[in-house]
Amino acid sequence: MSASFLYGGIEGGGTKFNCAVGNGPDSIIAEARFATTTPAETIGQVIEFFVPYADRIRGIGLGSFGPFDADPASPTYGYITTTPKPHWGNTNVLGLLKEKINLPFAADLDVAVSGLGEATWGASKNDSHSLYITIGTGIGGGYIINGQPLRGLVSLEMGHIRLARDPQLDPFQGACPYHGDCFEGLAAGPAVEKRFGQKGETLPDDHPFWGLEAGYIAQALVNYILSLAPQRIIIGGGVMQKDFMFPSVRRKTQELLNGYINHTMILNHIDEYIVPPALGGRSGVLGAIALAIESTSKKL
Ligand SMILES: [Zn+2]
Repeated sequence: MSASFLYGGIEGGGTKFNCAVGNGPDSIIAEARFATTTPAETIGQVIEFFVPYADRIRGIGLGSFGPFDADPASPTYGYITTTPKPHWGNTNVLGLLKEKINLPFAADLDVAVSGLGEATWGASKNDSHSLYITIGTGIGGGYIINGQPLRGLVSLEMGHIRLARDPQLDPFQGACPYHGDCFEGLAAGPAVEKRFGQKGETLPDDHPFWGLEAGYIAQALVNYILSLAPQRIIIGGGVMQKDFMFPSVRRKTQELLNGYINHTMILNHIDEYIVPPALGGRSGVLGAIALAIESTSKKL
């Protein structure tokens, strides 16, 4: 990792675009954020931000909200595809950037890029296999293996796995337009809002729903642990900001595994195993810089 070159990072989120120039967490020389309005306006602001640094930047990484085509071999690589978000459906985000900035670009789904940021500089920097999950307005996950986000036929869609729901305890049918009561349909922000007619932030800490929520998250983690065996699980997003959530999710994960995985990280060090992002709100934009560094060094 060279200190003499600068890289650009763009975290393209559904509410804002975070941009930065630098080459790591301690060397950010410029940062800005722009509201996600229309592609023309927002991408225009992103381009203006990078122009003064363009001759010093070696490459730019983009982590985009999804659904996003992250397959470089696909004809629609770099497109936000079927999003219901007004103005953004079928938008060639990468193409709009490349049209005005003549630099190498690399792009992936936002959660994969945040996971890469944590794996490069954050909570999982010493792990070869790590999982990053975000639980907010949507739920997504990125699995990072040796500095590369896992992708097969398509990007991972870890928020849409099926979970067991007890209709006695939780009669809510779920909010996912595709699957009803999948993980996201049960546990993301809009699901909470649809259940109670109020946002999760305003639901009291002692509300019994939080026990259910932690249980759904734990069920999902158990499935990921059993099928991917991550060395660390990082959970970001608004829901985990409540300080009782991490202890509750850790305890329920141990209960559901019931001693089956005989590893000290799960049996004795669960508080180091299931953790918040070490880079805080910067996982995404720093991950985008990591992606730029990784992809430009590969091309040399
Ligand atoms: Zn779903």
